[in-house]
Amino acid sequence: MSDAQHFKVVIIGGGPAGIGAAVGLAKRGVGPVVLIERRAELGGTPMGYRKKPGGVPTFVEWTRGRVVFGEELAGRMAKRLAKTDTAIRLGTQVTKIDPAEKRLTLLGPDGVRELTADAAVLAAGAREQTPAEKGWLAGARTARVGFTRHVTGWLDRHGLLPARKPVVVGSDLIAYSAAAKLRAAGSDEPVMIDRRQSPSAGFFERLFFWRWTRPDWSGGVTAAGMKGDRAATGVQSSDGKEWPGDGVMVCGELVPNSELALLGGLAVELPSRQLQLARGQAMSEPGWFAAGNVLGGFHGAQWCYFNGRRLAKRIATFLE
Ligand SMILES: Cc1cc2nc3c(=O)[nH]c(=O)nc-3n(C[C@H](O)[C@H](O)[C@H](O)COP(=O)(O)OP(=O)(O)OC[C@H]3O[C@@H](n4cnc5c(N)ncnc54)[C@H](O)[C@@H]3O)c2cc1C
Repeated sequence: MSDAQHFKVVIIGGGPAGIGAAVGLAKRGVGPVVLIERRAELGGTPMGYRKKPGGVPTFVEWTRGRVVFGEELAGRMAKRLAKTDTAIRLGTQVTKIDPAEKRLTLLGPDGVRELTADAAVLAAGAREQTPAEKGWLAGARTARVGFTRHVTGWLDRHGLLPARKPVVVGSDLIAYSAAAKLRAAGSDEPVMIDRRQSPSAGFFERLFFWRWTRPDWSGGVTAAGMKGDRAATGVQSSDGKEWPGDGVMVCGELVPNSELALLGGLAVELPSRQLQLARGQAMSEPGWFAAGNVLGGFHGAQWCYFNGRRLAKRIATFLE
């Protein structure tokens, strides 16, 4: 399309990593830069942790050693972005990329548009594995089984307690955060199981959550299936043991949102969906970079923000 707008850098994703990249590029005087975010607001995943009276802050702000509402942290990052000249397109999804041409197709309030850039940053974040990807929840799902995002939805948006005696599967930061929310909403102390021998959340991470939750931990347990016909009555482990409860929360195990890269033909490892990086945060095609949780693994929001900021130096060097 000949009317495609051209930018020096396009950033895909307005979470902590994308915001960090935009702030870093502005500090280096690189522009014009455009940031594309499919949601109606900036901030990414932390925005799911809304501030409200009587709500429990469970979002760990590592650099200050305290727990806040995710929305507060994301809001501070967005304020830093607002001080830059970055063009921001909200409610706009990048649906297709042509990596060689650095041409992006966008679907937004004005319909389908295209833009081109000299460099592109993929900061699309990560999502939790689906039951099928986990390979242990075949067929129809019983009621009262959910992922972390469902817990947040039930508790924060609908004010519903999904379980009085929850079983939490997983033991990373996300799992502790879900357990804390359930406790604060009135559940018993959750039973927490994981195939790992010791929790994947580190000692200090667990210490953060002690105020709210001290889950009844069992390691070396591989969840093999759900108990209960209509509603969950617990989890069955691979050795035939039962872990009773009236609701099951499956937490953690993030998968990079690398669909765009995959569709565009950038090098992506399967089935992990991990981006194959050429060097540092540079992707397989020159001029394409990645930042934040799309890189794989579990990283905190501030790590992602600073990861984006650090990436700006590499992009500036590439553009020289
Ligand atoms: C349940 C849970 C609890 C967590 N708790 C903590 C915590 O306590 N403390 C902490 O520091 N971190 C926590 N994290 C991690 C933190 O949320 C992430 O580290 C951080 O949000 C990652 O930033 P990001 O910018 O890489 O990705 P995201 O925050 O996921 O942002 C990615 C953005 O890209 C957008 N996007 C994706 N695809 C497209 C597209 N095609 N077009 C346009 N936009 C697109 C998305 O809409 C999203 O806004 C938690 C994460 C989860 C899931």
